[in-house]
This record gives sequence, structure tokens and C-alpha cells, in this order.
Amino acid sequence: MRVSNIHQIFQLSFMPRLFPVNCYLVEEATELTLIDAALPYSDKGILQAAERIGKPITRIVLTHAHDDHVGALDKLKARLPKAKVYISARDAKLLHGDTSLEAEEPTAPIRGSVPKKVKTSPDFHLQEGDLIGSLLALSTPGHTPGSMSFFDPRSKTLIAGDAFQIRGGIAVSGTMKPWFPFPAMATWHKQSALSSAKRLAALQPTTLAVGHGGLLANPLPAMQQAIAEAKTAIERSVQYAARS
Ligand SMILES: [Zn+2]
Repeated sequence: MRVSNIHQIFQLSFMPRLFPVNCYLVEEATELTLIDAALPYSDKGILQAAERIGKPITRIVLTHAHDDHVGALDKLKARLPKAKVYISARDAKLLHGDTSLEAEEPTAPIRGSVPKKVKTSPDFHLQEGDLIGSLLALSTPGHTPGSMSFFDPRSKTLIAGDAFQIRGGIAVSGTMKPWFPFPAMATWHKQSALSSAKRLAALQPTTLAVGHGGLLANPLPAMQQAIAEAKTAIERSVQYAARS
């Protein structure tokens, strides 16, 4: 596990060279918020990192319900029974293996590795605009229907889950990057992901923190380039579908 730190954000990266899977500890005055629960064996590293910072984890917040973001959830909840668990109402369904769509949603199959054995039930269903400590919750569907991102106004750091990827080249969720194609392969609806990416760029973050890849400082030009690339790819596929 590799730990990187900027302002109040600690990035814990598992398998950083091979297949980086990140989760985050966000520091508050007397406590820590954990964002995402990484891989099934990540509980030890997460708890050790919290111990080193010297504050208790009181909240476990999930960006979305894919296996590589909820892996250690049950083990962590067992070790931290008082910690409250947060996820969007929409992805709470996915957390328990239900991949059915809601009536108003675009008809595209939910992709990626959806949990099958998670026992923990969330304590709170997140909504757009909720405050979790210092973090502002933003509804950013696309990668999954209920994906959430979190903005820390203290440092203008954006924790975007898989709404963007950085490993293999920065990309909006759904844009295929040959050196790290997995987030794109696991993306539900590209058009929604593009709309969400635009909203996130409008926050003008000074650091971008994602599920896969290192922390990125001054990310705005790269985010805008990724947005342009995603837009072009979607337009091309629409033209192609119209022709064939
Ligand atoms: Zn994912």
C-alpha cells in the first residue's frame, strides 16, 4: 500500500504499480472519513493508516457499488461498528446485487463487478448537496447510475470515484484507455458520465483524486481535454449508429 497526502486528503493505493485501487482518508478536526473500501484485504492497511494519523474513522462513504470500491466494507464495519456507512439510494440497490434499472433511467446494462455478498446495510442514503463533515456530496451518474463524487472546499480537492480515471491516461468514465481499459469496460452510460464530468470540471478543483491512478494537481486542463475526447467519441458512435 502506498500513501500519498495533500492537504486533508490521504490517498491509500493498493497495488499501485499493477492495478491501482485507491481509497481515501479525509481528515477532520477530531475524526476521519473513509471514502471507499478498496479490496477485500485492504482493511488492515486502512486501519493502520488511520492509526498513524491518530484519529478514528467515524464514517465510511462509498462513491459507488463496484467490488473494487467496497471490498473491505464488511470487515471494516465489523472492526468499526460505530462508523456510519453512506452510499446513494440508487447504488444501495447495487450494493446488494440488484442490477435492475429504474423506470426513468436510460436503458443500458449496468456493467462492472457488482457485489454479491456484501452484508453491511448503509446507515444513510446520500443525496446531492449533502454535507459529510467538510465534504459536499455531488450526484455524478454515468459510471454507475448512483455514482457520487465529493468536493472538499477547504482545499478544492475533488474525490471523483470512477467518474474520471487517471491511470492509463486521464479519461472521463467510459472513454477507453488501452493501458487501463477497466473503468471504461465497467461504465453504465457514457452520455450521463460526460454530463457529470462537465459538472465536476465546473468546480475548478485544484487536485483530482480518483479510484484508479495517482493524485493530480492542477487537473483542470487535463479534465477539459478528457471531456472533449469523450464528447468526440460519443458523437462518433452516434454517427456510426445512424449510418449502419
Ligand atoms: Zn467502478
